[in-house]
Amino acid sequence: MATTDREISRMAASLPRSGIRAAASLAVGREGLAHLEFGEPSVMAPLAVRQAAAQAVLERRMVYTPTEGPKDLRQALAEKLGRVNRVSASAEQVFVTHGGIGALYLALSTLLETGDEVLLPDPGWPNVVSQVLSLGGVPLFYPLPAADGYLPDPDSWPITDRTRAVVVNSPSNPTGSVFPGPLAEGIAQVARRHGLWVISDEVYDQITYGETPVAMRALYPERTLAVYSFSKTYAMTGWRLGYLVTPEQRVDATKRVAEMVYSSTSMVAQEAAKAALKVPEAEIHSVVATYRRRRDLALHHLKEWGVYRYTPGGAFYLMVDVSKAGPATEVHRRLIEEFGVVTVPGSAFGTSAQGELRLSLAASDEEIARAMAALADLLAVR
Ligand code: PLP
Repeated sequence: MATTDREISRMAASLPRSGIRAAASLAVGREGLAHLEFGEPSVMAPLAVRQAAAQAVLERRMVYTPTEGPKDLRQALAEKLGRVNRVSASAEQVFVTHGGIGALYLALSTLLETGDEVLLPDPGWPNVVSQVLSLGGVPLFYPLPAADGYLPDPDSWPITDRTRAVVVNSPSNPTGSVFPGPLAEGIAQVARRHGLWVISDEVYDQITYGETPVAMRALYPERTLAVYSFSKTYAMTGWRLGYLVTPEQRVDATKRVAEMVYSSTSMVAQEAAKAALKVPEAEIHSVVATYRRRRDLALHHLKEWGVYRYTPGGAFYLMVDVSKAGPATEVHRRLIEEFGVVTVPGSAFGTSAQGELRLSLAASDEEIARAMAALADLLAVR
């Protein structure tokens, strides 16, 4: 049946689709591809995590839970926040959500009125732009210039009377850049001066190749909503579990929105998450060391070809300038059709990285080697 405007809300009809999914759709139906398009870890969730989930199912622990998540899980998360992120939060301030994306939505939906402006990074993870739009907010973008190592300059942010919040993301998807301490301080100062809320997307907090990045809540606790996830650290993307840390005065409102949107997350995934939080740090470090090795492998090639530009300090993404080989969307298409390599063009992440491709280094060594060989051919560097 044909749909009309009246059958679909204006909001739903006008939402942009994720450019990442669109880029991936070009590869659908093809076999034997190297997949560097999604931030999907090639490693498996730890055995203890899978066992805990299986046990929960066998023991029939799979009913509704409190909306915000069970107390023992939130207590374990508060402990993790103190130990890993150096952030002090009570269990009451932690909400277990449907992935990091659910935490972002919960944060934005307790903040925005129609017409409120939200500053977002360009290039940045696109889904949050649609979330802002869906809530009647107005996305405004601040650049992450490649020449500055993809780091923002908070003093140049286009802040107006209508600006309600800024979304920051360190370590970053799609660039892998990590805020140095003084930059995080600068962001907190600007936000405090203008009374802005900071939505700090820290889903890659434990995937870093230097020091653990400074958590924005450690610098600006009064107005930071912090977003974390089990997806990346524990390779638990399909379990759909993340968490939001909110100041105390927002707990009640957050609970009301969460109740209305999802009532609770899956108990099976929660049981798995409890096991994840007990995974020895060495196990996490060894996975991060694998990502680091893959990053270095990719950088080694770029250096060899004379097209190296920067070293991602975290996450598992690398932006490569392919403008020499043609428009990035065209290079993306040719990589799929001629070389069987799937990436994402920079245009999926905003307007400022049009000449670039994002490679996900969460792929396997073989896939990365194939992608680098294909890029070498296209960039005519060997
Ligand atoms: N934020 C960023 C920057 C991401 O890259 C992702 C996922 O790729 C998310 C949030 C969402 O995380 P989740 O998969 O846990 O919903």
